[in-house]
Amino acid sequence: MTKIELRSLDLEEMEALMREINEPPFRAKQLAQWIHQKGVESLGQIGNFSQNLKNKLGEYSKITVLKLVKKQVSRDGTEKFLFGLEDGNFLECVLMRYRGTKSKQRNTLCVSSQVGCAMGCGFCATGLSGFQRNLTAGEILSQVYTVNNYLKDDNEIIGNVVYMGMGEPMANFANVLKSIRLLNAPYGQNIGIRRITLSTCGIVPKIIELADMDLDLVLAVSLHAPTDNLRSQIMPINNKYPLKELKKACLYYNQKTGRRITFEYALIEGFNDAKQHAKELAHYLRRLFCHVNLIPVNPVVTEKYQRPDQKKIKEFLAVLTDGGIEVSIREERGTDILAACGQLRGKVVE
Ligand code: SF4
Repeated sequence: MTKIELRSLDLEEMEALMREINEPPFRAKQLAQWIHQKGVESLGQIGNFSQNLKNKLGEYSKITVLKLVKKQVSRDGTEKFLFGLEDGNFLECVLMRYRGTKSKQRNTLCVSSQVGCAMGCGFCATGLSGFQRNLTAGEILSQVYTVNNYLKDDNEIIGNVVYMGMGEPMANFANVLKSIRLLNAPYGQNIGIRRITLSTCGIVPKIIELADMDLDLVLAVSLHAPTDNLRSQIMPINNKYPLKELKKACLYYNQKTGRRITFEYALIEGFNDAKQHAKELAHYLRRLFCHVNLIPVNPVVTEKYQRPDQKKIKEFLAVLTDGGIEVSIREERGTDILAACGQLRGKVVE
C-alpha cells in the first residue's frame, strides 16, 4: 500500500484521514500543527498523540523527510542546501539571511518546484540538465520546514519564500499552489501571502488562471529579452507564448489583481545589453504596472554568456529610468557556491 504523504495534506484532507481511521476531527487540527507548523520529522515526535494513534497513522501515512547531502556557505553568507529525495533524486534550495533590525522576518528561502526543468532556458544550469519530475507539495514544503528546523539553533525563521529554484513553478501549478496555501495557513508557517514570490518563464494560461484566483502574492516573470527574435534564442517557451501574448496576460493580471508584476531581465554581454535593447524593453513595458530587476547573468553555465561591465549596466538602467520604468539591479548572492539565479543543478558536484 502506498502511504499518504502527510506534508502534502491540508487540514480538510487530514480531517478526512482522521475520519477514515475513526478518530475525532479535532485530532486533524492537532496533526496539521505538528506537521505544518512545528515541522516534525517523524510521528514519534508528536507529543499529544497516544502510541496507538501514532501506530494507526503510521499504517496509512508517512512524513517526507529530506536528507541533507551537502551544505555550502558563500562568502556573502548565502547557504545552499543539496537534499536527497526518497527516490534517489536531488534538489537544491538557497537560504539568504538579511541582517537588519528585524532579521527574523528577513530570511528568504528560494525553493525548487521540480527536479530539473523542461523549459530549457539557455543560460540556466537546471534547464540544461533536463526534466526528471515534479515535486509534491510536501517535498516543496519540506525545504522550508527542514531549513527552519536548522535555523532554530540561531533563533531565526524563514520570513519570505521565493519559488525561483530548480524548475518552472507554473508547470507544477497544482502542487505549487497547494504548498503556497499551506505556507500561508494559520495552522502552518503563517507566512504572509505578500511575502511569497511565484516566478515563471511566461506560461500564459497559468498567469491568467492565477489572476482569476486573486491571490495576493508577488508574481515575477522572467523576460530577459525585449523582442521575440532575441527571446526565442534563449527561452524556447517564447515560441509557444510570444511576447505579445505574454504582455496581454500580464496586463490582465494587473487589471484583475491591481498588483505590480516584477520582470526579471538577465543582462548578457553583447546579446541583450545595448541601449537599443533598453529602449525596446521600455517600449514593451508601456502600460504595465511593473518593476524591472536587472540581473547581470551568472557566468557559470557556458562561457557563451558573460555579464556586461558596470558602465553598460548603468547605461541600461538609465535608459529604463528615463523611460519611466521602475528598475533596480538585483544584488547578487551566492555566486561563488553556484547558488545564484540559473546556477542550481540538483546534482552532487565535488
Ligand atoms: S530559468 Fe527557470 S524555467 Fe528556465 S530552465 Fe531554468 S529553471 Fe527552468
